[in-house]
Amino acid sequence: PSETPTPAPAHGYLVVISGPSGAGKSTVVHEVLAKCPLPLELSVSATTRKPRPGEVDGVHYHFLSHDEFRTRREQGEFLECKEVFGRGDWYGTLQNTVSTGLAAGKWVLLEIDVEGMLAVLQKFPQAETIFIHSGSIEELERRLRQRNTETEDSLARRLEVARRELTFLSHYRHQVINHDLDTAVADVCRILTSLAARP
Ligand code: 5GP
Repeated sequence: PSETPTPAPAHGYLVVISGPSGAGKSTVVHEVLAKCPLPLELSVSATTRKPRPGEVDGVHYHFLSHDEFRTRREQGEFLECKEVFGRGDWYGTLQNTVSTGLAAGKWVLLEIDVEGMLAVLQKFPQAETIFIHSGSIEELERRLRQRNTETEDSLARRLEVARRELTFLSHYRHQVINHDLDTAVADVCRILTSLAARP
């Protein structure tokens, strides 16, 4: 009989983490991966943007050409994907990475933007969602200026994106304010640990 096989039930948890750039989101995520005693796995996204110095293919991203990305998109390999920042660069979460992780009982973390989160919730309404931010736009501006990596133009653009992302705050089940790294890491870890206690 030509029955479609039933997909294996997901045993792990899917957790989406978003937040404006400059809020220390990646640092918090990496500390959580190192310190939180749960079988966490960070999903490696695919992107068409060029690697930055120090970035490793398959570790930070799967770096794909535009053609490869398009082919994989057309073949339905992405759980969600989008062009970010209007620069022509695509980013996407690979369906296979997520389903393999979940089937293995992992707690799969997606570090993606607000639109990505909304798309993921369409397919995984039970996904946990956490928004990490710096408390206010003023604080974010202060940190970005302190980091001294932005031109006035790119600073203004990042703040604009951050303002827009903050309007989606209420779509996230949890928000964590990153005033202090250790506290933010402990907060995220506590949120994740409490998931295991859910029926
Ligand atoms: P960056 O180029 O600095 O690594 O990432 C730029 C933005 O792309 C970040 O806001 C990040 O959250 C978002 N991003 C990274 N991977 C994905 C993905 O797979 N899907 C979506 N929707 N956004 C992503």
